[in-house]
Amino acid sequence: MAADFADFGGAAREIDSSGAKWLHMDVMDGCFVPNLTFGPPLVRALRTRTKAFLDVHLMIVQPGRFIREFAKAGADGITFHYEADLQAAVEPEVHSGAVQKFLTEIRSLGLKAGISIVPSTPVSVLEDLLPFLDLALIMTVNPGFGGQKLIPECLEKVKKLAKMREEAGQGFLISVDGGIDETTAVEAKKAGANVLVMGTAFFANSDKSGLVKRVES
Ligand code: ZN
Repeated sequence: MAADFADFGGAAREIDSSGAKWLHMDVMDGCFVPNLTFGPPLVRALRTRTKAFLDVHLMIVQPGRFIREFAKAGADGITFHYEADLQAAVEPEVHSGAVQKFLTEIRSLGLKAGISIVPSTPVSVLEDLLPFLDLALIMTVNPGFGGQKLIPECLEKVKKLAKMREEAGQGFLISVDGGIDETTAVEAKKAGANVLVMGTAFFANSDKSGLVKRVES
């Protein structure tokens, strides 16, 4: 969402030539978050332009309606929000069941399955879901808009989750999203993050391949 909205193809080329291996796409519905972005047609269009891993982050309500469509469009991974209304009953155990069902559905389509939590949601809600996860995305800002500052407390959640992952003997990736720049990237990696979603700081940097090399090392 930090790219030039009039030139997503150009943004994909910039990402490819920087050496970054993933392209993160923020899908917003104006309901789960107070902003609107794009849907499956953009994933389909970019699929023909890049070999990068298309990491689709759904900030939408009732994500189950769109899992198949994003998979068909060429997504490699789909992440949805734990907090989203899943069209399930309100009891926590029923909600957790619906989350598992969608994660399993994403995997059954041959994609990486991810769950995301906003800053106010504790990582303890993920406890029973660990075996169903390929990726856990910790939002490090409140979702909706780019260019925000990372909330430092969220890195404590990354540390906690990394510990839970180790104790459970699981191999899912931990991703951080929001306010990631060269400085916060180092802190997030130290906390246990494996995937760093960088928007504004990436597109504002004139030496993108240098940036990617430094952040990856
Ligand atoms: Zn995102």
